Amino acid sequence: MNQVAMMKEIQRLKKQKKGLILSHLYQEDEIQELADFTGDSLELSQKAATAEAEVLIFCGVRFMAETAKILSPQKTVLIPVEEAGCPLADMIEAQDVMVMKEKHPKAAVVCYVNSSAEVKAISDYCCTSSNAAKIVRNIPEEEIIFVPDKNLGSFVAKQVPEKRIILWEGFCPTHNRVTGEDVDNIKKIYPQALLLVHPECRKDVYERADFVGSTSAILKYAKESNAWTMIIGTEKGSLYRLKKENPEKEFVLLSSSMICPDMKKISLDDVYRVLSTMENKVEIDDNIRKRASLALNKMLQYS
Ligand code: SF4
Repeated sequence: MNQVAMMKEIQRLKKQKKGLILSHLYQEDEIQELADFTGDSLELSQKAATAEAEVLIFCGVRFMAETAKILSPQKTVLIPVEEAGCPLADMIEAQDVMVMKEKHPKAAVVCYVNSSAEVKAISDYCCTSSNAAKIVRNIPEEEIIFVPDKNLGSFVAKQVPEKRIILWEGFCPTHNRVTGEDVDNIKKIYPQALLLVHPECRKDVYERADFVGSTSAILKYAKESNAWTMIIGTEKGSLYRLKKENPEKEFVLLSSSMICPDMKKISLDDVYRVLSTMENKVEIDDNIRKRASLALNKMLQYS
């Protein structure tokens, strides 16, 4: 089947099964083109919680599909490739959080949504890169254990200096591998360009940026900006929407290494296969799901 025929067949199956295709902004271009809704983690969580569809086909990595299932247990959630994981989420386990809680009994645990259902279940609040500072600022606790991303955590600590933040040493390999030196080098080529980066980048990168925000915030900033050339410090897939929405502007990836291999695992064939077979259903233990949903719902309430 060629690509056009496959896209048509996917749409037919989706209609038949009352499905909705969700895609993260880091997915391959054709998956974003196919999806009914594209967004970053927060937007996808909100869409999963409110969508009327019976089946959610979640084109993203595992923790995202799990989040959709936690928020919408009555819906069938399919992940086209089960092996699409997140190395950042894998850098902490529930047991590690327990140990931190024992060391800091008065602290609240705020976990970035890039974490397993088990880690969410023992956290007090969840957050995404869009709302992390807001949540840390607004919650009553003065001491916060922030897991698992140290870069996002240190960025939040800078935004909310009145709180004491204890960090876990996790990081996103895709964002963390870019350095301040990479910024200086690309700035020599594009001296007039604005630099827009994701807070999963290292401190020496985000401190050089003109704007730091989630992928959706970067999209919004780029649309509203008068600048013609912008250097983008987040995953390559974000260029698809940036270019589509701003054809007159130039976007340059901060580093050609900003590609997340897990986000690129899903193809049109995979979407077609799971829709045909209804395989790869996301299932979560009910006890874990209920506890994780408390932390996630607190996040939606504060966003
Ligand atoms: S880009 Fe980083 S945080 Fe996002 S899925 Fe890939 S490894 Fe995880």
